[in-house]
Amino acid sequence: MISNKMQTLVANSSTIRAMFEEGKRLAAIHGAENVYDYSLGNPNVLPPDTIKKAIMEILDSENSNVIHGYMNNSGYEDVRTEIANFINKKQSLKLDASSIVMTCGAAGGLNIILKALLNPEDEVIVFAPFFGEYRNYVSNFDGKLVVVPADTTHFEPNIAALKEALTSRTKAVIINSPNNPTGVIYSEEAIKHLAATLEEAEKAFGTSIYLISDEPYREIVYDGAVVPYILHYYKNSFIGYSYSKSLSLPGERIGYIVAHPEMDDFNDMMAALNVANRILGFVNAPSLFQRVIAKCLESEVDVSIYKRNRDLLYNHLVSLGFECIKPEGAFYLFPKTPIADDKAFCEAAKAFNLLLVPGSSFGCPGYMRLSYCISYEQIQRSLPAFTQLAEAYIK
Ligand code: PLP
Repeated sequence: MISNKMQTLVANSSTIRAMFEEGKRLAAIHGAENVYDYSLGNPNVLPPDTIKKAIMEILDSENSNVIHGYMNNSGYEDVRTEIANFINKKQSLKLDASSIVMTCGAAGGLNIILKALLNPEDEVIVFAPFFGEYRNYVSNFDGKLVVVPADTTHFEPNIAALKEALTSRTKAVIINSPNNPTGVIYSEEAIKHLAATLEEAEKAFGTSIYLISDEPYREIVYDGAVVPYILHYYKNSFIGYSYSKSLSLPGERIGYIVAHPEMDDFNDMMAALNVANRILGFVNAPSLFQRVIAKCLESEVDVSIYKRNRDLLYNHLVSLGFECIKPEGAFYLFPKTPIADDKAFCEAAKAFNLLLVPGSSFGCPGYMRLSYCISYEQIQRSLPAFTQLAEAYIK
């Protein structure tokens, strides 16, 4: 018999499964090319060629017991040093390997940070709309998720509402920029305001509040947009980075955490992350891919492919009368649903072979998420379906 907690989690995961099954059902009837699946965030842009080359070179030239062996639970020291140096060059910082832990993607990184931080009932604040998995990551360690409602004028963190949400039990605040699901990049002004608010709260409560910046989309930005690096603004900060999207390697489970070297209890924290990696069963980030990444730090995917998709879809939806903020990064659009019930609207969209995710899944009802990491041609084919949907719902 599975645990009570898992029964609820399995029941809740049925929405995603139902969407997947619906996609398969519609594809069987209409043909896969006539079903427009905007529901998944699986990158469709190819990883750079340097990845394959690096794999081959490593397999050909390095000791197999090293390539496939265990290492320190925080990852290879030389790889962590190279990553620290790479960040130092880009961000004018002075990090070393001691601030870096190699992780199984951003998900692995967030889970070990929360494992290191949370006592039962400790509060973790997130800003709506937020990546729905945060609910599970926080509940894994019996923390309490506190949702700050969205500021739908610009989808930046709602600082006035944050002030109301902060308590003496607040242990961490998670932000995600470029954001899934809005594509918004939090401005430097917003980050400064956030940092000042957290510092005030730390003083008022006599506690440490850790800011966790979840950044799998850091490199997926358009029109020269810049993503502020939170280590410059707040001492008690972590960055959770991942190569899942930036190098299109989601199945390889590779990423890292950066911890601010001046954070409270730095040494204890790094020891805790190391142990958390081991005891949660990750043990260490995949060994071959740690070595691959070290050789590909300068590599990039072709972001212009996502930008072309964004422009096509965004321009079409706006021309139809959908209200939508123009994303500066990631590969999602987050339009307002023409009727208040986002779940009913996404259900109705299936009649036009459009698979969309209700904003409620991201703590923001009345909106819907469209993942445009699909082929340009598929987006082109889907445009008439959006036109029909708009004709039916936008008055
Ligand atoms: N955080 C956000 C905001 C995401 O969108 C995702 C994946 O879609 C993740 C974390 C998990 O990423 P990873 O594959 O690196 O674990």
